[in-house]
Amino acid sequence: MEKQIFRIAIDGPAGAGKSTIARMAAKRLGFVYVDTGAMYRAVGLFCVRNGILPEDEEAVSRAVAGARITISHVDGEQRVLLNGEDVSGLIRTEEAGNTASAVSAYPAVRKHLLGLQRELAASVSVIMDGRDIGTCVLPDAEAKVFLTASPKIRAMRRYKELKEKGMMCNLEEIEQDIIERDQRDTNRAAAPLRQADDAVLVDGSDMTIDQVVSAIIDVAVSRGLSVK
Ligand code: C5P
Repeated sequence: MEKQIFRIAIDGPAGAGKSTIARMAAKRLGFVYVDTGAMYRAVGLFCVRNGILPEDEEAVSRAVAGARITISHVDGEQRVLLNGEDVSGLIRTEEAGNTASAVSAYPAVRKHLLGLQRELAASVSVIMDGRDIGTCVLPDAEAKVFLTASPKIRAMRRYKELKEKGMMCNLEEIEQDIIERDQRDTNRAAAPLRQADDAVLVDGSDMTIDQVVSAIIDVAVSRGLSVK
């Protein structure tokens, strides 16, 4: 008998809590969590390391073939490998994030990662988060959620996260970065950030993490997932 798989797509702007929530929901459901932002961040890190200017589309598009991105799972946690090196920690800087945001607008970069993303969801049940999962990567995902929160709240959460990691940061700069990143992601021509027509909107501004996780599981159940 063919194994039934169920795919949950979670899209939304930067800092809406997608990765924390998707990771928790995946654990509760026994699904594999796939963080596609990490793949774009690895490409961003590759550009930073190789001195490739993010605004130079031609140079980035030429170079991206040299960035072999692979994914492995250790104790249920996703690890991102860049040419065989585990860069999961190194991609969490604002620099890698901002470079990722700039280069993710280029069709060559998106094409480079699309195959890997689809492959990861081909044979197991996944919760995949990103910007274009419901619209482009998995347009026929069984359940889709568009997760958002106000820019102020998103900035505050990212600020706390970075502080906890001992990183230097400034709240106003983070908020500005978030607003700019949203604008770039929403206005780009290639796979812009957009709520899929069949996605359920969840605004987590005034919700606890647990409430958002439950809301996402409720969406999946309403789309046919059976949970024990
Ligand atoms: O989600 P995260 O902030 O880690 O993503 C980094 C950047 O990668 C985003 O700002 C966005 O521009 C890009 N991205 C994307 N499509 C995805 C996931 C992330 O364009 N599916």
